[in-house]
Amino acid sequence: MILSELGAAVETLSGVGPAAAKKFASLNIFTVADLLSVFPRDYEDRTKRIPLRDYVNFPKVHTICKVTAHQWFGYGKMKTLKIAITDGSANAWLVAFNRDFLEKSLPEGSIIAVTGKFETKYNELQSSSFEASRISFDGNLADFENIPVPDSAVIPIYPLTEGLTQKVYRKTVAQALKQYAKNISNEIPDKIIKERNLLNKSEAILFVHQPQTLNQAQEARKTLIYEELYLFEYKMLERALMHRGTLPLQDFVPEAYPYFSTPDSETGLEQIRNEFQKSLSPRQKQIFSSLNFELTLDQMNSILEMNRDIDKSQTECNTMLNAPQKLSKPPFSMQRLLQGDVGSGKTLVSFFVCARTIDYGGQCAILAPTELLARQHAENAAKLLEPAGIKTAFLTGNLKASGRQSLLNALRDGNIDIVIGTHALFSRNTQYKNLQLAVIDEQHRFGVTQRESIISKGRISFKHMAHSPDLLMMSATPIPQTLALTAFGDLDISVIKTMPKGRLPVKTYLTVFGNERNVYEAIRKELNAGHQAYFVYPRIAENPQAEQTEKTSLKSAEEMFDFLSKEVYPNFKCALIHGKTDDEQQAEILKKFSSGNIQVLVATTVVEVGVDVPNATCIAIEHAERFGLAELHQLRGRVGRGKFQSYCFLTYSKNITETGISRLKALHQSNDGFFIAEEDLKLRGPGEVFGTAQSGYFALNIADLSRDKEILKTARYNALCQLKQRNP
Ligand code: ADP
Ligand code: MG
Repeated sequence: MILSELGAAVETLSGVGPAAAKKFASLNIFTVADLLSVFPRDYEDRTKRIPLRDYVNFPKVHTICKVTAHQWFGYGKMKTLKIAITDGSANAWLVAFNRDFLEKSLPEGSIIAVTGKFETKYNELQSSSFEASRISFDGNLADFENIPVPDSAVIPIYPLTEGLTQKVYRKTVAQALKQYAKNISNEIPDKIIKERNLLNKSEAILFVHQPQTLNQAQEARKTLIYEELYLFEYKMLERALMHRGTLPLQDFVPEAYPYFSTPDSETGLEQIRNEFQKSLSPRQKQIFSSLNFELTLDQMNSILEMNRDIDKSQTECNTMLNAPQKLSKPPFSMQRLLQGDVGSGKTLVSFFVCARTIDYGGQCAILAPTELLARQHAENAAKLLEPAGIKTAFLTGNLKASGRQSLLNALRDGNIDIVIGTHALFSRNTQYKNLQLAVIDEQHRFGVTQRESIISKGRISFKHMAHSPDLLMMSATPIPQTLALTAFGDLDISVIKTMPKGRLPVKTYLTVFGNERNVYEAIRKELNAGHQAYFVYPRIAENPQAEQTEKTSLKSAEEMFDFLSKEVYPNFKCALIHGKTDDEQQAEILKKFSSGNIQVLVATTVVEVGVDVPNATCIAIEHAERFGLAELHQLRGRVGRGKFQSYCFLTYSKNITETGISRLKALHQSNDGFFIAEEDLKLRGPGEVFGTAQSGYFALNIADLSRDKEILKTARYNALCQLKQRNP
């Protein structure tokens, strides 16, 4: 039987009455399976004898004593028993608050086992937090050293609730183990257990709860962590197999992850370039020849990978429609995550993928989280794709009724090849003639249901099979590897690590408040040289409800716009933009900033995504401690987009926290989004990094995604091999 099948109620264990059962229930423990799946949060090593004399050097004394006297102090309800003890190394007192019953169970003259925290108080060695029990012993009382301490073991410490003691908890677990542990069967293949030197599940469960040594507890945990991650990955991969007919292969060779090898040699590069050019479809070719820069190697690699996906998807969709008997598995469609650093050119890659889909006669949708970003994509698409004969359109919720209807009609009739927009793309009355590719930019802003909503607009069902449109999800900044393998473990992953040629790494400076003037002057030099700058603030306006201290200490975009435009940069054209600026005005301001008619843009985080102005070389982020690490990195990505040296100035206030400092240090230290993503995970944990939309993925019991990264990789690899064997 596997652990989760031990469905007997906790109450059926001997010694567990309704009251205790209720306590366990409040810890969400109802069955034996639940009970045995909650692992100790810590262990106490009581295998060694610690005499009273050594109380300072150990957290707890663990020894055998003789009770030499009883004493009472206090009156009435406060009356308390004190028990004098000695273990031959020292004398001490047990102070038995509310434990009058010890008078009988630990009588004068008896020999007792004592475990407790001792301290010197009022010139006496004493303990009020102790466990003591009488032992039967016949031997030489003078010779304390030779009396073995009973129950010498590693003691598990469980997370408790009020009214439930460790003692009762342990006894209950012991009962469960006695009755059931032997019958718990393995959930991972025996072959893997052998190969990886793991324990059998029944042993692991026994040792995690009742280890003989700390080492054994460690061994047990290792097995359980591996098992949890293996089963997680196995399920994830199995699901991928079911839904799309193939396993994701990006990391089949674990050494190749992260991120496929980038050939260093010229010949390797030449090879990929040739292969890339050969693989291009007519419209892709046209776009390629119109570029006035070179694609990076990783861009080419990503496009190549997706070209293969699209071809396979189209072929299998056709087979489903024309000769379904030939398909033994559901028809394949692309489900791929494209991740890469900010500014690495992901959008362009997605345009190439769209072009191929259009060459097959399909329609594409590019979904962006904000109007601003969608508009930017739409403008780029129009510039780059219309010359290749691709019909593009921009659709957002704000579109006026008449224009909207004709656009929707065109989309329905197939007169639009690519539609770019926000949530409107999957609203109820948006219909497609033949949607075959959905691109989701900044995918972390969308939940699973929204992803499904857009996909469902193009799903084709035939008999009992279905073919989904191809899906390309793009990340804003890199995703830590462990999150990629769990949250996105069912997807193929393409990675862009190389930046476009000629980009210089942004120089990042940290400044404490009080020295902003230096920052303003440094930026003035850049402005004088004809460049442009962003200033970013954590909020739009002064909050009238805020505490007076906060009001005066926290800068806002509005207030700073006033100050910067009037006092600091009166000779430059400044503008203000934030979430409450209406969409048309936002577009207008960005257009002017883009064309250089505005030099200083004062903003909130609305400029985090989608603003692409290569001539902007400075970004000052004030109150940097108020922003998340990924957010800061993304903001910094607004500069360094051209061939000029760019600068990022982070000003922070004096009351910055420890983690705040760590965040800024990480940014100061590195421009590499992959490094920063890992740091972010360390500082915040997976649930936070990912946001609530998909945090359910991380309900792990014993494994930890930042600590157990290596185990995760092996477990996933083993799960892949196993599935591959079964589904050749
Ligand atoms: P992100 O990956 O952050 O979405 P973008 O797609 O916005 O990045 O690209 C950033 C900028 O780099 C755009 O102006 C784009 O035109 C440009 N770009 C993309 N690829 C290249 C390249 N290979 N060489 C030079 N510039 C490029
Ligand atoms: Mg982007």
